Order: sequence, then structure tokens, then C-alpha cells
Amino acid sequence: MTVFNNLIAGEWVGGDATDNINPSDSDTVIGRYVRGSKADAKNAIAAAKAAFPAWSRSNPMARHAVLRKAADEITARKEELGHLLASEEGKTLAEGIGETVRAAQIFDFFAGEALRLAGEVLPSVRPGVTVEITREAVGVVGLITPWNFPIAIPAWKLAPALCYGNTVVIKPADLTPGCTWALVDILHRAGLPEGVLNLVMGRGSVVGETIVQSPDVDAISFTGSVGTGSKIAEASVRQMRKFQLEMGGKNPLVVLDDADLDVAVDCAVNGAFFSTGQRCTASSRLIVTDAIHDRFVAAVIARLGGLTVDNAVKDGTDIGPVVDQSQLDQDMEYIEVARGEGAKLAFGGERLNRETPGFYLQPALFTETTNAMRLNREEVFGPVAGVIRVKDYDEALSVANDTAFGLSAGICTASLKHACDFKRNSEAGMVMVNLPTAGVDFHVPFGGRKGSSYGAREQGRYAAEFYTTVKTAYQSAG
Ligand code: NAD
Repeated sequence: MTVFNNLIAGEWVGGDATDNINPSDSDTVIGRYVRGSKADAKNAIAAAKAAFPAWSRSNPMARHAVLRKAADEITARKEELGHLLASEEGKTLAEGIGETVRAAQIFDFFAGEALRLAGEVLPSVRPGVTVEITREAVGVVGLITPWNFPIAIPAWKLAPALCYGNTVVIKPADLTPGCTWALVDILHRAGLPEGVLNLVMGRGSVVGETIVQSPDVDAISFTGSVGTGSKIAEASVRQMRKFQLEMGGKNPLVVLDDADLDVAVDCAVNGAFFSTGQRCTASSRLIVTDAIHDRFVAAVIARLGGLTVDNAVKDGTDIGPVVDQSQLDQDMEYIEVARGEGAKLAFGGERLNRETPGFYLQPALFTETTNAMRLNREEVFGPVAGVIRVKDYDEALSVANDTAFGLSAGICTASLKHACDFKRNSEAGMVMVNLPTAGVDFHVPFGGRKGSSYGAREQGRYAAEFYTTVKTAYQSAG
């Protein structure tokens, strides 16, 4: 069995390793991945610190070349990497390949950005003085990532971090280290100097904590749960360190009476259940006005009945397994909670057995739910959604905004007036009209409001807000 090591100061470093299990076939081990120690994390941070002065002053062409090469290799290996992704995370092969292509596009985008880092020159209010505003790398950046987008999220943090001249220690989620290992291997071979990029796989409580507590880590970009995010925020504030958090969602999809039914059903089924509902942008609250409610529910149920839940890499699979036993237990628990609260299970919610032993769950659709139910207030993070019946647009908007989260929100309507009003008044970082709440472009900002996100946006040119720091320099003619 291949053992995949950590990359610290340009060397592949071994240690205790653990099995990476395939959720579609839990008897299959994808590989053994090293679980780093506190000492590994400290060595990685020291290596990143030592590499920072040279990398942050490197020729932008050097940074461009590494990112470009990485984009090319990811593209050339998209089927293989997509297969690895589907095997370790459980989304379908098509979704895995799609996510891999997106990772390549992100590296491609930031390869260009390395050559476009601009500043400003302004006349001073004092005679004979000019003012220059420039952006510089922040320093050693700690990147801590979740399991549900195992190649896209590491890519959208690594690419801008390296593009702007930061050095990096990355810690992927324990459940899905394979894709990050592959990305780091690609970047390392693309020619990064030693210490610029360090990989320390392992437990959050060991490796993650060491990164978070280190005074030598200048910035942390985190994606994951609200609980872990809060701990990172507290530790970072104590150190006056820059940090950015992307966390949960309870994203609403509003369906109005005048919506195109097919479009609304597509948006709901894709947004709520594809990728096994394990997306921070999943539409877990379907807010539907009276006159279309029954037709919409019937059509969603009919569509769900035609979907195949099976091994992620099998031909014809629409929905793969849940990522592991504990996430499956959490999903089943929420199904029970919703039933106990009086919601009606209109479809699914059953454990499924397939040819290969995995964590299969039939998508669950609840009707007769209220926005006050735990089902509609807490993130389930599985293929479970609740329909909330409302009387009109105004009530739909108010229910949509009545949540602790604010990542993504969608509306299906033919009304320009309601679409425009929703774009303006939705309290979410991303708003979709006649599109699923999940599924975003790689070149524009990504992020939310309220309990979903904290700090600067990720992706696109807005990533520079986090991965650079601004310097204002004044100069007199003498
Ligand atoms: P998690 O918080 O359990 O883990 C995320 C990462 O933090 C992992 O690498 C984990 O090992 C690490 N970690 C755990 N404890 C730590 C600690 N004490 N110190 C430092 N690091 C620690 O989240 P998860 O279960 O992997 O991911 C699911 C969550 O991620 C969901 O809530 C989902 O909504 C969220 N998510 C958000 C976005 C977004 O962009 N908003 C995208 C994807 C996923």
C-alpha cells in the first residue's frame, strides 16, 4: 500500500499513517496518508518563514511559470484526479472531473494575476510629494481546508497565496488528504523553491491547532464548520493576525408562482441533492409560494424518484454516498429530528445498500416544515431539504433572510421586479436568479455574510484583499 508523506522544507517526510477510505466501497483503501505531529507542523512553519524573504521578492515570471505549469498538469490529468476525488469524497466521477477542471482554471487565472499586480500613484496634497500605494505579500499563510471540495478549495487558497508571494503551510481535512497531496506534488515538481509550500496532513486538534497557535503564522484562511471557525477567530484576534473564514450555510431557494416549473425543479434538485447535498451552498430550504407549491413538490418527488444513488465512479450514478459513517449518522439524526418536529417526509431518507458497501442515503425531502424547525435552522450537510410554504414574495424574502447564515440565496421567477428586488434585498453574499444556489464561477468573488463568512472574499481579483497587505509610500523630490 502506497504511503503518502508530508512535504516539509522541500523533503517528503514520513510518520504514522492512516487509511484513506473510499466511501463508495468502505472495504477499499485508497492509500495510506501520513498524520503529521506538532513537531512536523512547527518545522513546516519554520521552513515557510525562512523561504518568505526570497519568494516574496521573486520575479513575478517565476510565480507565473509555476502556477501555469500546475494548471497544465491538472488539466492533463483531469480524469485521474477526478477519479481520485470521487473515490475519496464520494461525489460522482463527472462532478469530480468538473471540480478538477475548476482547480486547473483557478491556477490558470492566478498565473495571469501574478503578472498583473498593480498599485496606484497619486499626487500628494503636499507640494513636490508623490504617494505610491502598493501591495505586498502578507507572510506565512496557514491554509486549513474541509473535506467536501477536496481539490477546488485547496486550489482557490493555494493559487492566490503563492501568486502574491506568500509562503504556505497547508493542512487538508483528515477524510480527504489525497487531492491536496496530489496538488502539492504537482506544485513542488513545477519548481517551487524549498519551504515555499509545505504540506502537513493530520488531525485538526494536532496539526491545525499548532498552525493556529503559532505566532509565526501571519494569516490563516479557513474553510469548514462554524465551531472550528470560531476557535480560529478567537486565537487569531489574540495574536492580531489576519484571518478569513468560510463556514456553513442554510441557503434558501425561493420558488414563486410565476416560475418556470422545469427550471425551478432543476434548481432545487441540483442545489439540494447533487454532490450528496454536501455543499456549503446547498439549497436546503425550499421556500415555495402557495399556488405553485403542490405542483412543485410533486415534480421534485418525481425527479428524485428517477435518480440513481450508487458508487460514485459507476456509470449512471447521479448521487454518490455520504462521506463517512459519522456524517451519515448526523444526516439520519436530522431526519429523525425533523420527523419529531412534525415535518412530513415526502420522499426518501432511507439507508440504501448497493453492490459495494458504502454510506448510501436516499435523498430526503420534507414538506410541511416551518422556518423555526431545527431542520431549517441548522446545517445538515447532507442530501436533506425542507419545503416551506409561504403566501407571497414578501413572506418568501423575509423567510429567506430569517437565518443565522448568509452564503448563497436563489430565486426562481419570471418577474423582473421580484428578481431585482431579491438581488438587492437578499442578505447573502451570492444571489442566483433562475440558477441553483450552488455552482459558481472561478474568476469572481466567493463568500457570504452573517454566520457564513468572516473577512475578505475569496477568489478572483478580490483574493488580493486577503493575500496581500497594502503599503502607502510618500516620496519628496528632495
Ligand atoms: P471542520 O471544521 O470539521 O474541519 C475543517 C478543517 O479544520 C479540517 O481540516 C479540520 O481538520 C480542521 N480543524 C478541526 N479542528 C481544528 C482546530 N481545533 N484547529 C484548527 N483546525 C482544525 O469542517 P468539515 O467537517 O471538514 O467541513 C464541513 C463544513 O465546511 C461545513 O460546515 C460546510 O458548510 C463548510 N464549508 C464551507 C464552505 C464555504 O466556502 N463557506 C465551503 C465548503 C465547506
